Amino acid sequence: MKLRFGLAANRRHHERRDSAVFEWLLSSGSGIAQLGMEFVAVGRTCDAIQSSCLFPDKASLVRYPYGRDGGLMRLVSLVAGGTEHSEAVDGAIYFIDPVDASSSFPEALALKRQCVTHKKPFISTLAGAKEWIEIERMHAGMPPDAGTDSYFAYEDQTIALIAHDAFKADMVKYAHDHFELLSRFRRRIATGTTGERLNELAWTKGWPIDQEWVDPYLSGPLGGDAQIAELVLDRRCKRVIFFEDPHVARQHEADIQLLDRAVCTVGDSAVCANSLAMATRWARALERRHALVAGAL
Ligand code: PGA
Repeated sequence: MKLRFGLAANRRHHERRDSAVFEWLLSSGSGIAQLGMEFVAVGRTCDAIQSSCLFPDKASLVRYPYGRDGGLMRLVSLVAGGTEHSEAVDGAIYFIDPVDASSSFPEALALKRQCVTHKKPFISTLAGAKEWIEIERMHAGMPPDAGTDSYFAYEDQTIALIAHDAFKADMVKYAHDHFELLSRFRRRIATGTTGERLNELAWTKGWPIDQEWVDPYLSGPLGGDAQIAELVLDRRCKRVIFFEDPHVARQHEADIQLLDRAVCTVGDSAVCANSLAMATRWARALERRHALVAGAL
């Protein structure tokens, strides 16, 4: 079935010809066309894309109302499954400018929350959007696009692994299932408690007992999210996998949002996956891509 994604961008990301949305379409347009993806794009974002003529197939770009007329709110409903009048989307790409006030409106936060709740990808950065098209190409059985190689050069990258309490067991299982892939990263970092659990796992899997598999920072509520955000802002950590719990009130909500905002601040190179479903889809695509590039498939 045709993939259908919601699409929105804060003003900075669509107002000029060198803005993120256009850079994304220039580099990922052919992948979008190969996949036959359809996008439901909100108001001004849609107008800007239409006037750029960069979108590969006009019929696959559905216009939703301006933000002020509820466009983004309607997109949240589509993520949750839509209504009898509308059709669900499989995920959302929202190019966030963290200093644009509308990026912290309730509908903007709900867009991510409903993606997490419904196990759909939520992509908030240019790097993430470029990478995600390649991920979908991998799942569709297509050959790797060499133009995206730099995103997958994980031997040079640091990855952050964080899980809220209800998802710590999921994180341990995720690390178990994708241990080889995650071990290829130059460095792994984590918040305190998540890190402890992951190191215990690694030692049971034969990781040298005198070495930590992941470097733990402080526990999230004590500032670990902020420490990881600093590394993200310094471009020393390009990838964050954060299994967020959308169903509880979080005492350190501000810290969680701070980390999300840090990723978007350096959105040309940083990516974040907020759920097990998204991180698993990413890992499986990478494993396939790696095998293809190595000639093992
Ligand atoms: P923790 O922090 O790994 O120390 O539990 C995670 C978080 O709650 O942000």
